[in-house]
Amino acid sequence: MPNLASVVGEIAQRMTARDERGKVASYIPELAKVPIDQFGIAVFTADGETIVAGDAEVPFSIQSISKVFTLTLALGKVGDQLWTRVGREPSGNPFNSIVQLEYEKGKPRNPFINAGAIAVTDVLLAGHEPREVLGEILRFCRFVAEDDSVAIDEHVARSEKQTGFLNTALANYMKAFKVLENPVDHALGVYFHHCSITMSCRQLAMAGRYLAFSGRLPGKDVSVISSERARRINALMLTCGHYDGSGDFAFRVGLPGKSGVGGGILAVAPGEASIAVWSPGLDPHGNSVLGSLALEHLAKAMRWSVFGD
Ligand code: GLU
Repeated sequence: MPNLASVVGEIAQRMTARDERGKVASYIPELAKVPIDQFGIAVFTADGETIVAGDAEVPFSIQSISKVFTLTLALGKVGDQLWTRVGREPSGNPFNSIVQLEYEKGKPRNPFINAGAIAVTDVLLAGHEPREVLGEILRFCRFVAEDDSVAIDEHVARSEKQTGFLNTALANYMKAFKVLENPVDHALGVYFHHCSITMSCRQLAMAGRYLAFSGRLPGKDVSVISSERARRINALMLTCGHYDGSGDFAFRVGLPGKSGVGGGILAVAPGEASIAVWSPGLDPHGNSVLGSLALEHLAKAMRWSVFGD
């Protein structure tokens, strides 16, 4: 097996040298300001080591990667009942599409498209104020990342709110079908804020450990979720984690992963590693160009694909 530290170092060098980087998300004005010439990678391994390269310590907006954490919390709260509110099939549609919602009577296809994530947030809101739920999400992120400096970027949250017309439409649509139980502005307020959590690659790789290691934090006597639940969240990340680019990501990389329009991707090599990559330039599906490419190289070099070596 090749040496992981040299593989990671080499990937960072290759990525940094590339000109083809896609486009920074511009529909959230605050994200459009992020310089495109950045690339970071962090790999947390089974023996408790974190190998980093490039801009691995720079905080970025995790955006839709936060949906993995809210899904974890919602499953903890209501268990399998969640699936009466949200499906678990790939959508094959863009992250903010409203078309499918109409056909399927307001029930979102999966927890990782925007409509699904807003419905998951609504589940977390039951009996709570938005501020409490946001506190719970942030505490969970800090706990799994083992880092109290994980925070919400209020500028990004405000920017999302000001331009979130499509998300507002999705939420209203679901409210009309009674898929949302709480006030639309509560669900959206918490959603915009959890998408605006910032983490560095190092923090994100730490936060993903419980998914890579059967629900546990390796080296510690801490069980975050059951191994069955971790396996199922990983299955959803594999099938739905990259919107209408999920099939291509599985084909090229072969790992469960969740991307965000901030340019981050959290990927999981079960039993081997929790991996975070970040580069703000996106492909037309909203997935990081260099992030996906870096994971493709890494999974190949380390023979980590879940489909075999
Ligand atoms: N907050 C973003 C939105 O709702 C999340 C999208 C993403 O990261 O894919 O538009």
